[in-house]
Amino acid sequence: MTLASSHSERVEAHGLSGSDRDDALRLECGVFGVWGHPQAAGVVALGLHMLQHRGQEACGIAAYDGTKFHTERHMGHVGEVFSGPDVVRRLPGFGAIGHTRYSTSGGSFLRNIQPMFADLETGGIAIGHNGNLTNFLYLRRRLVAEGAIFQSTSDSEVILHLIARSRKPNAVDRFVDALAQIEGGYALVALTNDMLIGARDPLGIRPLVIGDLDGRLVLASETCALEGVGARFVRDVEHGEVVVISDKGLTSLRPFPAAKARPCLFEYVYFARPDSVVNGRSVYGVRKRMGARLAAETGVDADVVVPVPDSGVPAAIGFAQASGLPYELGIIRSHYMGRTFIQPTQGVRELGVRMKHSPNREVLEGKRVILIDDSIVRGTTSVKIVRMVREAGAKEVHLRSASPPILWPDFYGIDMPDRQHLLAANKSLEEMRRMLECDTLGFLSVDGLYEAMEAGPRDPDCPQFTDHYFTGDYPTRLVDQDLAANAEADQPDRQLSLLVSA
Ligand code: AMP
Repeated sequence: MTLASSHSERVEAHGLSGSDRDDALRLECGVFGVWGHPQAAGVVALGLHMLQHRGQEACGIAAYDGTKFHTERHMGHVGEVFSGPDVVRRLPGFGAIGHTRYSTSGGSFLRNIQPMFADLETGGIAIGHNGNLTNFLYLRRRLVAEGAIFQSTSDSEVILHLIARSRKPNAVDRFVDALAQIEGGYALVALTNDMLIGARDPLGIRPLVIGDLDGRLVLASETCALEGVGARFVRDVEHGEVVVISDKGLTSLRPFPAAKARPCLFEYVYFARPDSVVNGRSVYGVRKRMGARLAAETGVDADVVVPVPDSGVPAAIGFAQASGLPYELGIIRSHYMGRTFIQPTQGVRELGVRMKHSPNREVLEGKRVILIDDSIVRGTTSVKIVRMVREAGAKEVHLRSASPPILWPDFYGIDMPDRQHLLAANKSLEEMRRMLECDTLGFLSVDGLYEAMEAGPRDPDCPQFTDHYFTGDYPTRLVDQDLAANAEADQPDRQLSLLVSA
């Protein structure tokens, strides 16, 4: 079964109609917003460009010009669809938000592209969302039962419906009312006719930062986007915080009871750009320290340390520096291919790996090579690369993952397959080594990762970060997963293939 069908079927199990079956999980995105700028859409286009690594499938911008909202949503890269001075003419306004979206495993439809817009009793509102709601299917089902008509399978539309149905007097209160009902990981940006709103989930799983662009405030998923538009970093939006930005400046709301923050470790492992500072920590610094710890934990006699580019580069530098071995570019990456995961089927994904990475014989021939990647998920990338390195003449290949074994799926916005496709969840270390055809295989430990984060030892009662993919310790309840489990109990003949195997 391909992943595309597994995702579709999962949705079918929850009763979405056939036409809504694809792409019901919204994963891995970047958001950006600006208020009070005469060329707001142009700034947002630049910001989205800097967030392209967070989503390469589709993007959209919504702008408000004082009278009207303008929105454009397209398949494709930001540079292809929102480049040139034309953007500001097409999307005039002084307030704008934008969204860039990752490919999920299934197909995708224009109607799922964000920002989503709705004309409500309190006026127009556009929303862009990075993350994944863990009670999306529950809420959607309830809303449909109450008569709501959905145009998409996006959870932003669920949020719009919740805002629309709220009986609170103004847009901000309605927005907060909607937030009180959603669960999971989210960084949201919203645009109305008189404000830009930003919100981060109560645990701060997904990131969101505030910047200052010559006195105008901007919101972005990562600090690299602030650099890109020439804005100064002001601060993170805090976990559970709602920020309202208008002509009067910034107002901070804390509508929910205080909880301990648990940001997502995978932002540091893979997702964020290395030049970003996420929750006060340099992603590059963390990745280098992960490499150094990996060297301490899994060092081996070898001639050269080689990264799997680009994701393994900072960790390989850290590994090489800590072990005193030379760091070399033994694999060259084509920058004209998207991330490997973008391919919807395993067959095409495997071909993609071949075209994306090429061996550099000069470095590899006759050498004992330590190969560093940031993570091993299905093992597709690793097995191809190990083979390629060996074919290029390497005498030994020692594969190292700069993150711990991934044992559990993510439900908060990172694109990860079901448990049955996670290599480490299904095989012992020795079985994985044999399958990946390497001489030795090593992973960073969870303690080593916490050390690289420089946040003290992992607190077992309430960890400083969410690390469920490594530990199975989920930071929230999983309403939709429980629903799936109950559906399985109700329909014993249909299950398993229809349901999430968490
Ligand atoms: P795999 O081939 O399935 O083992 O995937 C591992 C490769 O995918 C590594 O090189 C990672 O850099 C990259 N990767 C890890 N996590 C993700 C993710 N959530 N989305 C896309 N790529 C990822």
